[in-house]
Amino acid sequence: VTTASEASDVTIVGAGLAGAAAAAVLARAGHRIALVDPDPVCPPAFKAEKLEPDQAELLERLGLLQGILPHTAPIHAIRLGYRGHALATQAIEQHGILYQDLVNAVRRQVPTSVATRKARAVELVTGAELQTVILDSGERITSRLLVVACGTGGRLHRALGIEKRILREAHSLCSGFDIASEDGKPFPFAAVTYYAERLATRIDYATLFAAPGRMRLNLFSYREPRDPWVRALSDAPHAELERALPGLTRVIGSWCVTSRVEHRVIDLYVAEKPARDGVVLIGDAFQSVCPATGTGLSKVLTDVWRLCEAHVPAWLTTPGMGVDKIAAYYGDPAKTSMDRGSLEAAEYRRRFGTDDSLRWRVHRARCFGSMALAGLRVRMRHALAAGTPPTRQGPRIDRTL
Ligand SMILES: Cc1cc2nc3c(=O)[nH]c(=O)nc-3n(C[C@H](O)[C@H](O)[C@H](O)COP(=O)(O)OP(=O)(O)OC[C@H]3O[C@@H](n4cnc5c(N)ncnc54)[C@H](O)[C@@H]3O)c2cc1C
Repeated sequence: VTTASEASDVTIVGAGLAGAAAAAVLARAGHRIALVDPDPVCPPAFKAEKLEPDQAELLERLGLLQGILPHTAPIHAIRLGYRGHALATQAIEQHGILYQDLVNAVRRQVPTSVATRKARAVELVTGAELQTVILDSGERITSRLLVVACGTGGRLHRALGIEKRILREAHSLCSGFDIASEDGKPFPFAAVTYYAERLATRIDYATLFAAPGRMRLNLFSYREPRDPWVRALSDAPHAELERALPGLTRVIGSWCVTSRVEHRVIDLYVAEKPARDGVVLIGDAFQSVCPATGTGLSKVLTDVWRLCEAHVPAWLTTPGMGVDKIAAYYGDPAKTSMDRGSLEAAEYRRRFGTDDSLRWRVHRARCFGSMALAGLRVRMRHALAAGTPPTRQGPRIDRTL
């Protein structure tokens, strides 16, 4: 069955964080929006599970944060661990939240004026005036602008004739599972970052953090997906992690694994020459991210902020949707600087976790040394103020690696 829907200003394909946030912001500004996604409710997905301070700020700016906060676990400090010691405690405001809860909280804030379609886009026909999206139901949706927010999948890129340039295949591996303390009591911390003690593990760090009703552990490594270690980690995560990070238990206490282990292989890519009449790519559809950098949601939300607050409102005031308009979004200084920073951070983290050169060994030693010194200084200050000797408990400092 092929039916034509009434034209809207913007059709958004994909209702992950990028698409749902864009739909909410544009519809609240009074634009006519169609939003297409096969899943009416975002299903469980192993992706971002924590909001960083800049991400909460961007969500607040977009008017979306308050609807998300009830679904988060607050984190006020991260204990920084290395070689069996809590070197320091970093003061920071983060929010633990499962990805599907984040997306569904944003979807609930999409105004009812948005025409939603529970369908998959299968064909895209774009031009300088009118865009047509053909759904797997046979329906055709037309609009002045098409926003593609389909995440890492490649089918729609091919439909647009846009190449995804692979910067590094299998750049990193992210593994995640739930943990609990062995005595069943709550952990005495909301978050721990524990850095690998040996380069041979090809692990950068493990991050443990509270999410509602659970403690999550995300492990960032630079292992090939077919490395037997990956299977071993799935089969016996506790034993394998004790072997790889022998000092972790000393920092967090006895622990056990309470869920299955999930892995995601991360390819780093960027859309090649994406500027086309009538269509823009946002979020992971434009550029992927290494989760170890914690910049994925910053990138998604910067795209949404710049596109929906600066560019789309201006584009809709004049006729046409030619490539000259579209190019302004891809050249937006806030967007380009965020995208570049995310890739630089990915390279930095990979070198931090794997580079055996003298330069990087010295760099790592300086990082851990200054972290330990800063921690010691704070402990001494506290001890002097209290008249008691310094303790092993991590002090609060305002720096991380
Ligand atoms: C394991 C892992 C851990 C991560 N950890 C972090 C972290 O700690 N911090 C951080 O900031 N970032 C992290 N990230 C990155 C972050 O999760 C992503 O950058 C972000 O989720 C991308 O959002 P998106 O909306 O672009 O894509 P997605 O969330 O993938 O949404 C894409 C949507 O498009 C829909 N779709 C796809 N194809 C079609 C189609 N043909 N028609 C209609 N709809 C379609 C899908 O159903 C989906 O709803 C992590 C990523 C991974 C994989």
